[in-house]
This record gives sequence, structure tokens and C-alpha cells, in this order.
Amino acid sequence: MSLVVQKFGGSSVADAESIRRVARRIVDTYNQGNQVVVIVSAMGDTTDDLIDLARSVTPRPRAREMDILLTAGERISMALLAMAISDLGVPANAFTGQQAGLLTNEIYGKASIVGVVPERIARTIREGGIAVIAGFQGVNTDSDDVTTLGRGGSDTTAVAFAAALRADYCEIFSDVDGVFTADPRIAPTAHKQPALTYEETLELAAHGTKVLHLRAVEYARRYRVPLHVRSSFSDKEGTWIVEEKDEKYLDGKNEAPMISGIAHDKSQAKITVAGIPDEPGTAARLFAIVASADVNIDMIVQNTPTNAANSANISFTLPKDDVPAAFSALEEAQDELKFTKLKSNEGVGILSLVGAGMRSHPGVSARLFGALAEAGINIDMISTSEIRISVVLSENQLDEAVKVVHTAFNLDSEGEVIVYGGTGR
Ligand code: ASP
Ligand code: MG
Repeated sequence: MSLVVQKFGGSSVADAESIRRVARRIVDTYNQGNQVVVIVSAMGDTTDDLIDLARSVTPRPRAREMDILLTAGERISMALLAMAISDLGVPANAFTGQQAGLLTNEIYGKASIVGVVPERIARTIREGGIAVIAGFQGVNTDSDDVTTLGRGGSDTTAVAFAAALRADYCEIFSDVDGVFTADPRIAPTAHKQPALTYEETLELAAHGTKVLHLRAVEYARRYRVPLHVRSSFSDKEGTWIVEEKDEKYLDGKNEAPMISGIAHDKSQAKITVAGIPDEPGTAARLFAIVASADVNIDMIVQNTPTNAANSANISFTLPKDDVPAAFSALEEAQDELKFTKLKSNEGVGILSLVGAGMRSHPGVSARLFGALAEAGINIDMISTSEIRISVVLSENQLDEAVKVVHTAFNLDSEGEVIVYGGTGR
């Protein structure tokens, strides 16, 4: 007997019929002899609707009440789903995050999990029932207030319970078939990867691939929870996310593919601080100022001064939404930092090539830059990790870049790919 945690995203439980369909699927897993714990997101766009509703009542909703409001979304879906399962003859109990024992710190809207005490859940499955848990919510043990884990947080709830209950694996159901070599809406020849490592998935998720909540992958990696990302609209195998891709995931091939996928990100912008003195402490000061504006940066590039004034340029990428805050913080500090010019560019796109096989294969960067050069696409900034190469380029060339790089690394599938218009939720 296996213990399986199954998480269903909002698009899988968008209406009554979908809830009944998902209930049948859960009961199938149960009838195959498994113990099943279910995590569910709010129905369809409920969370967005609740946020809009709050904002139409007040422009500045209080964080504490906002969390009480948003947890209502998952309470609706968990209750309905448990009813639908019971209706199929299997005992099912719904639990709020608090009842299920998900404990968090005190930060409303972005709470971190500090513990999971799944006693009632363990008892439910021991007694032969199915436990249905509201995703994305918990309780702060100091105040007894309910909290939410941040948008998309139900993935993290699922992994947290899978870890705490020592589940055999955790299935994340959404409306896409798995993790593709690139976004199929941009590269129609993209194909689903049978397996990825945690490390690769973290790199992809951190650089724009919308498959899983980043924190959920980090959590899964820490506790070695195997994840299976798949569609609730088909029975196809999805993508397994594991520590090591062993043979059973390799489709009979004896080596894992060198490249796992291409992530793309249009949400970033670039700021350049030009003519800044090249002396100790400059970068420290500059980034302390950016950090104090609460801005999270990603890539940084500094050039070596070759001019008489011995001044350098420092460029960095940041979320587009954070440009105004970073820009004005830096502007205010111009006298102190002694730079000559400040520029921002919101028209950038970032392409990231990810694959654990890069460690052992030379020539990956040359092939990447060659493919872009051949397509006449200029590279603005480059950054690398052990298993990733990212390039900043012009946003309007990003889609084209994804396509040519996909082809250059032989990732194109021969067959026709079925593209669901899914959002991955
Ligand atoms: N319902 C929440 C959201 O839409 C949590 C989730 O779906 O994971 O962000
Ligand atoms: Mg949702």
C-alpha cells in the first residue's frame, strides 16, 4: 500500500462537474489500494475575485482580515470535494489548514511553514478515509490567527504534508501535462520531459517556467519528496521530479538528456548605473541601497574600467514592478555613489538554458551563443550557474530566441504536440 498525496489546482476544480470528476479520480487511486490525502486550491479564479472584492471595499485591506478572507476560497473547495468523494461511497473528511495542523509564522499573506502536526490527517487515513485539506493556509501558533502562504501556495501545502506523513510521492495536478522543454505556446515542438531533478526544476522555476511554486520544489528537495506533475484532464504520465534521474525515467535511453529545458522570463527589467568609481565598497553601498528599497535583484554585471576616469558600469536585473522603487532610491543616492548616469530598460527578456548534463558536456555556451548569432539576436548580459546559462536580450526577440535555441539543442519533438491552453494551475 502506498500513501499518496494528490494536489488539485484551481482550474481542476473550477465548477461542480469538475469537482465530481476530480473526486472520481481520487477514489480510483484509493480503490487501487492506496491511502490518499488530498490538497485542494480554491475553485477557478476565486482567489483573484476575493482580492478584487476586498479592494472594491477598501483600497488598503488589512493583512489579517485579507488572510481570513482568502482562506475562505479553499474552504469552499475542500468541503465540496469531500462531499463529492463521500457521495462515491468512500468516507472523506475536509480540514482547514488549521485543523490539519499546518503551523506558520506570523507573516500574513506570505507566511512560512514552521511545522506540520498532521495528527487528524494520519488518523483519518489510518481509519480508511480520505483527508481533504485546504491548500495555501495555516495557523500562526502564537496568535491563533489564520495565515496564507502566498499566491500559488497550495503546492507547498501538498509537499509539506507529503513530507510530514512520509508519503511515497506527491502528485501535483494542473491543466498541463507536465514540464515541457520550453513553453509549448512559444515553441510548438516542445515536448514533455519524463523526469527532472530537483535542482533543474528549481533553476527552471526560478527563471520563469510556471510549473510549480518555487518554495514547493525547495521543500520537496529538502525532504526528498518525489513529485509527479501531471494533468487532471488526462491519464497520461506527467513529469517526475526526483533527486536523481535513474533508468526508470529515461524511456529506454541510457543517458539523461544534456538539456532539460529552456525557461523564459518577460517579467524582468534592467537598470544600469554608469560611470561609478571603481573602488572598494561601491558595489556594497549600491546594493545596500537597492535592498533597502525592498527590491530583489537577479543578475549583476560589472565591467572592468578601461577609461582614464577609472569608472565602471554596473547593470542588474530586477522585477519590472520594482523599477520605480529601485530607480528613485538610486537617484537619491547619486551624490553619495558618485555615478554619472542612471538608465532603466523594461524591454528586456531573459532566456535560460537548464540541464544537469552541462556539468559534463563542454561547448554548451558556444552552441547557445552560436544559435542566437545565426538568428541575428544580440546578447546583452550573460550569467551562469553550474547547470544554467542565462542571457538577457531584447524582449521582442525572446520568443524567436526560445525557438532557435530549442532547435539548436535538438529538443524539437517529431510528433505533433497537443497543446492545452492551460495556465498550469
Ligand atoms: N488559491 C491560491 C491562489 O490562487 C493558492 C493556490 O492556488 O495555490 O494563489
Ligand atoms: Mg489558484
